Order: sequence, then structure tokens, then C-alpha cells
Amino acid sequence: MPNAKTHIQAGLLITGITSLGFGLRFRTFNPFKLVLSLGLSVVASRLPDILEPATSPNHRSFFHSFIFGLIVGGLSYYTWRHLQDELTRNEADRVTTFKALILEIVFIVLLCFSVHLVLDAFTKRSLPLI
Ligand SMILES: [Zn+2]
Repeated sequence: MPNAKTHIQAGLLITGITSLGFGLRFRTFNPFKLVLSLGLSVVASRLPDILEPATSPNHRSFFHSFIFGLIVGGLSYYTWRHLQDELTRNEADRVTTFKALILEIVFIVLLCFSVHLVLDAFTKRSLPLI
């Protein structure tokens, strides 16, 4: 069963890869922003367990469900598409607009939340449907 450390490591890994990928692809890489993104991922990757603390074996409820996972995954994809559009629009200027920054923050939170649910889904108890 993935513990807090595993969730944080997975969040750091996926956020690092994603932030580096976007930063290099759109030439907006900024080490300060990467550190902030990684810090955000530490909290975001623990968010499902913050909302539903693992105080009992049956702690997994709505925020740990497949349905909520689909919603978060869909929103994550939607945000990723808009973030790409925004970065592409400003690619020549090599600047990160306020809108792109907000989209990136939302994307990281949704992505880390999704990764948490994917890891939990592969446990023996898996996730409830609703
Ligand atoms: Zn969990």
C-alpha cells in the first residue's frame, strides 16, 4: 500500500518531468518556478488523504472513488490542453503569462491528485466506484 512518502515521491517525479517538459518545450524554463512546482506537488500529492485521512481501513470514500478520479483526470486533461494553447500563443515572447501560471498550478494539483488515485487503485483494497 503506498504510504505518504510514496505518494510524495510519485508527485515530485511527475511534476518534475511535466514542468521540465513544458519549460524546455516552450522555452520558459525557470528554476525558481520548478522549485515552487515541486513544493506544490508535495501538498497536492497528499490531498486525497488530507481530505479523507487514513484513520480506518475504509477511509476511502468519494474523493478516493473511480468516479471522482475520472472527473479529476478529465479536468486535468482539459487544463493541460488550455495550458498548451496558452504557452503556444506566447511562445515567441518566451514569457509565462498570469493565465499560464494559474493553469500550470491547477494542472499540477489535478495531476498529482490523479496520480495519487492511480497508485491507490493498484492496492489490494483498490478504490470504491462512488
Ligand atoms: Zn489515498
